[in-house]
Amino acid sequence: MVQAIVETMHCPFCQNPDTKVIDTRISEDGHSIRRRRECPKCAKRFTTVETTMLLVVKRSGNVEQFDRNKVISGVRKACQGRPINEDDLKTLGQRVEEDLRSRGLAQVKSDEVGKAILKPLRDLDVVAYMRFASVYQNFENLEDFQHAIDELKGDVK
Ligand SMILES: [Zn+2]
Repeated sequence: MVQAIVETMHCPFCQNPDTKVIDTRISEDGHSIRRRRECPKCAKRFTTVETTMLLVVKRSGNVEQFDRNKVISGVRKACQGRPINEDDLKTLGQRVEEDLRSRGLAQVKSDEVGKAILKPLRDLDVVAYMRFASVYQNFENLEDFQHAIDELKGDVK
């Protein structure tokens, strides 16, 4: 495992080496992270911008840069005919990226990307979720579908 960001972030006001992150935002293109920080010592706030690489290790062993658009095109097929618009897909791509980046790793396996898609897709549309899950998780028989449906029902509150 590789740590994406190795840093010692000193407070620019009092040089205190310990700062607290109070807000994290990912830029539109997904390649940089703005963090709002607060110094626990002098209580001043400041913003840092970090550019990080997020790499995806494919099953073949190839490594490529994470691409939100690939996530979107991966789920688009499962969303056919469902009441899901481009904005929904964009939001989903963003949630997946934020989830993966929040782990603080420089690289993730393509399996992890697939897993990270499942939850936001389920929140978006259960039918699209079932379609995607059935392909991604290699559903082989009715029991697999039934199991997934039971899980879905268990989640309904
Ligand atoms: Zn300070």
